[in-house]
Amino acid sequence: MNADTTQESTSLRGPSWQEDAGRDLVRSFGDRMALFVRGEGAYIWDGEGKKYLDFLAGIAVDALGHAHPAFVEAVSTQAATLTHVSNYFATPPQLALAARLKRLAGTGETGRVYFANSGAEANEAAFKLARLHGRGTERTRILTLKGGFHGRTMGALALTGKPALQADFLPMVPGVEHIDATVDALEAAFDDRVAAFIVEPIQGEAGVVELPEGYLEAAREITARHGALLIVDEIQTGAGRTGEWFAFQHAGIVPDAITVAKGIGGGFPIGALITFGAASELFFPGTHGSTFGGNALGTAVAGAVLQEIESAGLVANAAARETQLRAGIVALGSPLVAGVRGRGLLLGVELSSPVAKAVVAAAQEHGLIVNAANDDTIRLAPPLIIGDAEIAEFLSLFGAALATVSDALILEGAPA
Ligand SMILES: *Cc1c(COP(=O)(O)O)cnc(C)c1O
Repeated sequence: MNADTTQESTSLRGPSWQEDAGRDLVRSFGDRMALFVRGEGAYIWDGEGKKYLDFLAGIAVDALGHAHPAFVEAVSTQAATLTHVSNYFATPPQLALAARLKRLAGTGETGRVYFANSGAEANEAAFKLARLHGRGTERTRILTLKGGFHGRTMGALALTGKPALQADFLPMVPGVEHIDATVDALEAAFDDRVAAFIVEPIQGEAGVVELPEGYLEAAREITARHGALLIVDEIQTGAGRTGEWFAFQHAGIVPDAITVAKGIGGGFPIGALITFGAASELFFPGTHGSTFGGNALGTAVAGAVLQEIESAGLVANAAARETQLRAGIVALGSPLVAGVRGRGLLLGVELSSPVAKAVVAAAQEHGLIVNAANDDTIRLAPPLIIGDAEIAEFLSLFGAALATVSDALILEGAPA
């Protein structure tokens, strides 16, 4: 008998954790790039004690960074008070978070909040909202953008405008059409059989791709004219990341619904659908549900995370740090940098060669975590708490990583 049957353990050193991961974890994620054991502020440490500056924050999730006192306190206190009672009942943190999200999103009195446990689940709820809006009518069409990302569950995957992600899972949930991100394409695709248009204000997974100027304003006008819902997927852009609480607020529009997740829990898994006005009356008893959704622990933590973002002025910090980061990246003068896209602390560094994976690997060597959103874009989504010191360190490490890769390209004789 194996002596170790009651308590599995993994060596933190050497190749053994990679063997464990390769044998035991689902293969859909590919090889894990490191084994992290601890975090504090904007830093994480691997199993060998090496320290990294984390400019990905778990893909725009760790809004307060790692092990923030407000997060730790909320998890500990609520876990010691009340964790879960099911949606047969309400709890104070759940009611407080719903009221807070309504205020931050600007729904006014008539808004409502559905709590889920992830982004994909929030979008499943949005999908059902669109179906309810079309219920009993000819409104069966749902429009979304080519290249957009809305999650991996079957409804959210149908909304996702990436055929490569769908190909192995056909048939898709019917009724969804993907269009180009131009006002003309939206106008041409629209008629009174459209139930909803679902859109990311910045396409994060596509490589931090911004919408054309004035697009959300036009989308609001067109959807309203045809009686369709405008649903904004704020899962990556919400919780202050772009320098407003939610990115739609830059455009000054009022959507019918938004979906949120990632940053609102600061690392605790939680998502939500927030509805505005008449769309708030579409769900009725029995039409949707979730066992875990909105439990006391998750909502207490998200409430504390949003409270801290608010009291520490981190939305304004996200806006201010954008300017500093953009200027600093350009000042690096790397031949590999072709431009910077995005808003606030969701930035995409456009590379002049398709070497994003090599830049990510070099950055990791230098002690910096960033992400290759696609072959020629480095995505930056640091914690909202970063200040002058973290930015200076980032620029130094990122500059070094770019130099490592551009020097290698020159050695190979390829144009850098
Ligand atoms: C991450 C993301 C999702 C999916 O969220 P999960 O929590 O991974 O299910 C959906 N939409 C957008 C815009 C995202 O960035």
